[in-house]
Amino acid sequence: MNSPEDILKQYWGFDSFRPLQNDIIEQLLRKQDVIALLPTGGGKSLCFQVPAIIQPGICIVISPLVALMEDQVKALQAKNIKAMALTGGIHFREVDTMLDNCIYGNYKFLYLSPERLQQELVQERIKQMQVNLIAVDEAHCISQWGHDFRPAYRNISLLRQLKPDVNVVALTATATLPVVKDIAQQLELKDVKLLQKSFRRENLAYIVKEAQDKNYYMEQLLREHNEAGIIYVRSRKATIELEQYLLKKGISATSFHGGLPKSEKSLRLQQWLKEDKRVMVATSAFGMGIDKANVRTVIHLNLPESLESYFQEAGRAGRDGKPAKAVVLTNKSDIPLLKNQFLATLPGVEMVKLVYKKLNSYFRIAYGEGEGTEHYFNFYQFCQKYELNTLLAYNTMQLLDRMSILTLAEQFQKKTRIQFLVTGKQINWYLEANPQFDAVVKSILRTYGGAFDSMVELNLQVIAGKAGTTVQEATKLLQQLQKEDIVNFEHDQHDTKITFLVPREDDITINPLIPYIKLQGKTKQEKIEQVLAYVENDRQCKSEQLLQYFGEKETEPCGICSVCRPLKTKLDREEMKRIYFAIIGLLEAQQYTSREMVERLDFQEDQIIKVLQLLVEKGALAITASNKYKLKHL
Ligand code: ADP
Ligand code: MG
Repeated sequence: MNSPEDILKQYWGFDSFRPLQNDIIEQLLRKQDVIALLPTGGGKSLCFQVPAIIQPGICIVISPLVALMEDQVKALQAKNIKAMALTGGIHFREVDTMLDNCIYGNYKFLYLSPERLQQELVQERIKQMQVNLIAVDEAHCISQWGHDFRPAYRNISLLRQLKPDVNVVALTATATLPVVKDIAQQLELKDVKLLQKSFRRENLAYIVKEAQDKNYYMEQLLREHNEAGIIYVRSRKATIELEQYLLKKGISATSFHGGLPKSEKSLRLQQWLKEDKRVMVATSAFGMGIDKANVRTVIHLNLPESLESYFQEAGRAGRDGKPAKAVVLTNKSDIPLLKNQFLATLPGVEMVKLVYKKLNSYFRIAYGEGEGTEHYFNFYQFCQKYELNTLLAYNTMQLLDRMSILTLAEQFQKKTRIQFLVTGKQINWYLEANPQFDAVVKSILRTYGGAFDSMVELNLQVIAGKAGTTVQEATKLLQQLQKEDIVNFEHDQHDTKITFLVPREDDITINPLIPYIKLQGKTKQEKIEQVLAYVENDRQCKSEQLLQYFGEKETEPCGICSVCRPLKTKLDREEMKRIYFAIIGLLEAQQYTSREMVERLDFQEDQIIKVLQLLVEKGALAITASNKYKLKHL
């Protein structure tokens, strides 16, 4: 039998395990049930993959997101390890073959969505498999106290009944004490070993800074070093605007959000990883699989929605162990903003019913049907058609995803379809009179049969190539033909894919979810309040606040956060000049106390006071008997 170290070297090429990895692996090889609490990027996957490779049989991995599964399966396949993912949207017959392969085909890993587990076929086949380990990834999803509760995760304990002798490992990066207890109970873990690495990050300074001019501070922070940074913002639009802002300031930047085409996503990620671009401006869609050591600064320009997600995003800074900063820039307008964005866009029962109904009519799904069908669409167009608030609609679809009604994925796809609305003869007449359309139309007719009878899918690249023109030009010509009712031309950019997991039964589908929908609203509200408490509490070390939130008891002040070491606001000449002119501007009109000036000026209080002192020292300002400042020469 190979040792874990051999496997690590042979398949991953790593020389040693990270802290706790070998402890976890050792316990699993002893057939213990384990809860493994390791921070994001701590290397949780290896903890179940290594023992599964060592032992005969197959490992069943439960994971909440299709994208996560696909990532891991691809990574394993690249190492010549047989792995497959069984998710929604796969046809019954194919599922059958796949499960056969798990039993007879020497597969080492079966990744399974919890929804799949509910199918009898899957359960029957699992009984026949020689399972060596059950791994529950992102195990916090099982708990309604967690930030990402998925009711279907509650069914995982079914595996225990199917395979009573197989041990279970539950892995997560974000579990508070009640969540850990919930995990143990729900998964019916026996004599469970809790292996937990402290979430303390010695080199990471957590900073919360009040800033009226956030962009200005962001720029200052980025100029402190020349290494990689991440800026998290709330909206797709903001990623683009801030990227432009940074570029204008001469700071190398790129941006990332969920709606980008796949190729564009990986291009931009690569540019950032290879440091062709220094700063990544992103929504929280940027995260999965990001493993860059020398990120010096992570800045949140908007408040995160939970401390769990904040800790994960902030934790991308300083993986190399060198000093790094995680900064939240905040001001008074954030609180209503957060409340508006999150609380006002929390879907209630009526909204869930509405969006579900609209989705079904959009894709023309008949009552009782739709299970397993996949649909690509343009999210924005969908919202426009039914006059839905985009954020609210998006949150609703995410909720439907969490409740196992459908799977939501951001997936970019261009779909182009065409049908001719006139006869062949009429087309020929038309082309004689309008020769500019000749090449494009003829290459379509030569390439695609049936375009006179029904909509056919079109590859514009191919058509443009054959017609000796560009895709843009061909698109323009076809749009003109559309206007003249010669063709029906659909040219959509799809950015979203949904897969219905259950047949459409309107309210009957949604009604059982009502308690969860209500619970979800309450949980989200609590999460937001915890974020606000973190931002506002400047009496306790920020690092300790976070660690205690995650259930660590023995914590010590970190000595480097914004509470332990209040920012000595460095005043550079530029900033001083701006404050100076602002003060002079005020005082030219009338006298003010320092308090009154702080209220009127858009700068930090301590900085204004500092400049005032300097001006008094230099004799430019005087203080009146009523404690007001005035210009000396007036
Ligand atoms: P998690 O699931 O805890 O967030 P992953 O399992 O995705 O983390 O691993 C994060 C990264 O760390 C991966 O790129 C992985 O290859 C790497 N990694 C894991 N264990 C080791 C190790 N012992 N030595 C070096 N790199 C490792
Ligand atoms: Mg993981």
